[in-house]
This record gives sequence, C-alpha cells and structure tokens, in this order.
Amino acid sequence: MSQVPLDNEVQNSMLEIPYLLKNLTAVVAVIVDEQGYVLDSNRGFYSLVNQDAQPESNWNVREMFVQPNFTEFLSVYAKQPTQSVYQGVMNVGDPNVSCRSIVGAVYRYQDRILVIGEYDIADMERLSSSVLELNDELAQTQRELVRANRDLKRKEAKITEMMLTDPMTGIANRRHFDQRIEEEILRHKRYQHSLSIVMGDIDLFKSINDTYGHDVGDVVICSFAHTMRDNKRASDFVARVGGEEFIMVLPQTKTEEAFLVVDRIRKLFGEINHPGIERAITASFGVTELRPNDTVECLIKRSDQCLYQAKEGGRNLVVSHV
Ligand code: GH3
Ligand code: MG
Ligand code: MG
Repeated sequence: MSQVPLDNEVQNSMLEIPYLLKNLTAVVAVIVDEQGYVLDSNRGFYSLVNQDAQPESNWNVREMFVQPNFTEFLSVYAKQPTQSVYQGVMNVGDPNVSCRSIVGAVYRYQDRILVIGEYDIADMERLSSSVLELNDELAQTQRELVRANRDLKRKEAKITEMMLTDPMTGIANRRHFDQRIEEEILRHKRYQHSLSIVMGDIDLFKSINDTYGHDVGDVVICSFAHTMRDNKRASDFVARVGGEEFIMVLPQTKTEEAFLVVDRIRKLFGEINHPGIERAITASFGVTELRPNDTVECLIKRSDQCLYQAKEGGRNLVVSHV
C-alpha cells in the first residue's frame, strides 16, 4: 500500500506536475484553476482529450469532466489538502468525440484543483476483450464476404455462359457469334492476318422433320453442331445462328485452308449413321475471307451467297469465294 503523502508534497504537486509524471501516458495528471483553466498537465491528460501537446494558454477543460462534472469538485472543501474531494471512477474527454474512464482522485488546495488518475485496467480489459470479439466477428464476416463474392462471381460467369450458349446444342449462340466476330475483325485490323468464315446448313432438313418428327430433327441438329465443334481446330469458333444454320469463324486462316477444314467436316457429317434414319444426311457450306473495308454484314452475305451456290450445285458441297 502506498504511504499517505506529506502535506507539503501534495501542496508541491499542486503547484506543478512532478517532472517524472510529465511524460507518462497511462497516468493522467492535470492542475486547473477554479474556472477550469489548465495550469499544468501531463502527456496522459492531453492525449486523453485528444491533444498532441498542452495548448500554450487559456485552455479550459471544465467540459471535459463528464462524470463527475467540474462543479462537483468545487462544491466540496477538504479539511486538509491530503484529503481528496473526490475519489473513484471519472469519465473524462471531449464528450463529442470520445470519453475514457480513469480511476483516481481530485484534490483541492486554495484555488487549485489537481486531478490525478490512471486508466481503469478492468475497463481496458473489457475494451480489449470486446475488441477481440469484434475482431473475430470481423474476420468471420470477411470470410463470409469472400465466400459470397466467390459465389457471386461463379453465378455471374454462369449467367454470362447461359446468355452466350444455345441451350439445345450447348454451343455458342448468335449473340456470342456477334461478340466474337467483332473481336476477330478488330484483331484482323491490328495484325493484318487473314480471317475466314463458314456458313453451314443441313440439306433438305425440312423433310427430316416431316418424315421423322421434330424430335429426331433436333437430334440431327445436335449431331451437326457437335460434328463441327469436335472437328474444328482449337482456335476456331462455331455458333448456331439459326434453326439448322451454323457459322464458323476461322482466325488466321485463308479461304483455301478454311475450305479444307470444312470439307473434312462435311465428309464426316455425311458419314454419320443417324439412328432410325435410313438415308445419309448431308450439309452444305459457303466459305469466304474477310476483305479490307468489309463489315460483318458483307462477310455474312458473301458466305450466304456461297452457301446458296452450294445448294444450287446439288448440296453436300463446300463453295468458297476466292
Ligand atoms: P435446304 O437444303 O435448302 O437447306 O433445305 P431445308 O429443308 O433444310 O430448308 P431450310 O433450311 O429452309 O429448312 C429449315 C427448317 O428447319 C425449317 C424449320 O422448320 C426447321 N427448324 C428450324 N429450327 C428447328 C429446330 O430447332 N428443330 C427442328 N427440329 N427443326 C427446326
Ligand atoms: Mg437447310
Ligand atoms: Mg436453313
């Protein structure tokens, strides 16, 4: 237990804060006059009230004593300077910013008031355990956020994929083709390499529908789509752009090379044995290459004209525009 300070030690402490206390931050010490103007303070006090240093002059801190308030210190006179006018927990700080609890005592001697205290350790422990709990919650929330974000990204990717895919065949749809061809034309303009496209259409497809029914027709459409998908080169792209019409995009490919790729697909498709269908099913193709100043529309129109010529020429043909 600490010894009771001698009278003159308390009196001396009320004239000036002892040098050894000046720089401590866990101990709060301030001497004020009866109006609340600071005569001297230590680092613990001015940092408690959010100051970097003690202001030069006229610093009034009456309002900083929130509980008990400053007038309560004035209402009591101790019989001796060694007796405090208040002892216990004090809430000190700028009430609009932050208030902290300290435990200490208030002494009054003549026209001076000395407040001395230290941070309430229990309060600090409570605070730090609340901070730990909040930290745990924060970490948990962050983990959930990361999980939710990952979920959201996965769903976004799924939606994008669905928007760009033909549900029946599982290959790219018209919208995807529109995107891809724009990208490829831009790339062509930048690097000047060739770009070919192919329009493919199943021959006499209406008769398949009419003879075997729509469901069998659907199976044939899927088989055509998958033959193109599985036999194109990795850099090529295929999309379903109509009922039984498909477009292939072949980057860095000249008409002659595109012709060879597509003619191989034509042969493979013609060789497929479709269950329940006695005759061979074939397809026709029109091939063309992008020319300077071509728009997507020009390109498609030319490949369509080639396809038309293939149909006119007897079907099961590839016609290219050189
Ligand atoms: P051509 O050789 O000249 O191409 O003759 P075609 O009979 O194939 O004529 P066309 O290409 O005009 O026929 C397309 C038919 O495809 C008409 C339409 O009823 C059918 N069709 C369009 N979409 C679908 C589909 O999703 N499923 C099925 N089963 N049939 C479809
Ligand atoms: Mg057709
Ligand atoms: Mg057609």
